[in-house]
Amino acid sequence: MIATVTRRGKAWLGRANFLMGRTPRVESRADFRRFIPAPYQAVLLISADFELAWGPRYAKGAGDPLAFARQKARQERENIAPILALTEKYGIPITWATVGHLFLDSCRPAGGKKHPEIPAVPHYRGPFWDYTGDDWFEHDPCADYRSQPEWYAPDLIRLILDSAAGHEIGCHTFSHIDCRDAACPPELLKAELRACKALAAQWGLTLRSFVHPGHTIGNLDVLKAEGFTSFRTDYRNVLGYPKRHDSGLWEFGQTAEFAFRKEWPASYHASRYIRILKRAIASNTVCVCWFHPSFDPVIVEKVWPEVFRFIDAHRDDIWTGTHQAYVDFLEQHR
Ligand SMILES: [Zn+2]
Ligand SMILES: [Zn+2]
Repeated sequence: MIATVTRRGKAWLGRANFLMGRTPRVESRADFRRFIPAPYQAVLLISADFELAWGPRYAKGAGDPLAFARQKARQERENIAPILALTEKYGIPITWATVGHLFLDSCRPAGGKKHPEIPAVPHYRGPFWDYTGDDWFEHDPCADYRSQPEWYAPDLIRLILDSAAGHEIGCHTFSHIDCRDAACPPELLKAELRACKALAAQWGLTLRSFVHPGHTIGNLDVLKAEGFTSFRTDYRNVLGYPKRHDSGLWEFGQTAEFAFRKEWPASYHASRYIRILKRAIASNTVCVCWFHPSFDPVIVEKVWPEVFRFIDAHRDDIWTGTHQAYVDFLEQHR
């Protein structure tokens, strides 16, 4: 009861703060042309944390995290085709931050050990999940994508790459590790990234764009050394500008997540995202949206069609592209 009231209160507060323009925070700068390609008025980036069961398999608050993760993975699989159809219809490319294990058709233990190429993961407590087990890969079925489609996705990656929308495959680590400096030794992230890069190379892909699992920002030096060019952060919701770190890595601060809140009707979701885009156009800023493809399908059925129609009707105002295409622009205009 109290939880319901709190949730409703938060939902109401969320609408009020949005209406008052308190969130997302809007930045402004006179030299916005360094960040907004002429003649456009705003930039829109959309990325997906593409992870199937790997993301939520230790989720806190889920009674049975493994069952929850498998259910999320099945929902994610069902959502991919409608997501691709809609992005193709409106020509909106997405940056798919992909868990590297999804590239695999199958896997099996070597010398009695699952994925011995990845160093042991130390125990830690994290914001969305803790790790206290004996084997980080304990839930890896060591099977194939036909029998265990919650853990592998070469079929889906093929669909994404074949789509005419011009999507980018990015990186979300090999096994959805916590990347914070305090939780992740550099060698661990390095091994994860190298596993992803080696698999991507077999697909003819070079991975450049990175998203930390669960916003566990860290090990930025390793990212840079392994050839990545950008990462996304969630410190606050902002319509602003990317930040170039001394290392040369670009940081994209998030504006909004595409997610369904049951306290709000679908029509309010659509109008809220459209208002955010209007604010981006009015303020000449960058809108960084992201989502979990396992989201409530109401987003792709009812919310996105309206939002994407708006984007399509404002093609001349909104530049939309992948994270790497945008980094290419930024580097040319420094
Ligand atoms: Zn495996
Ligand atoms: Zn994730």
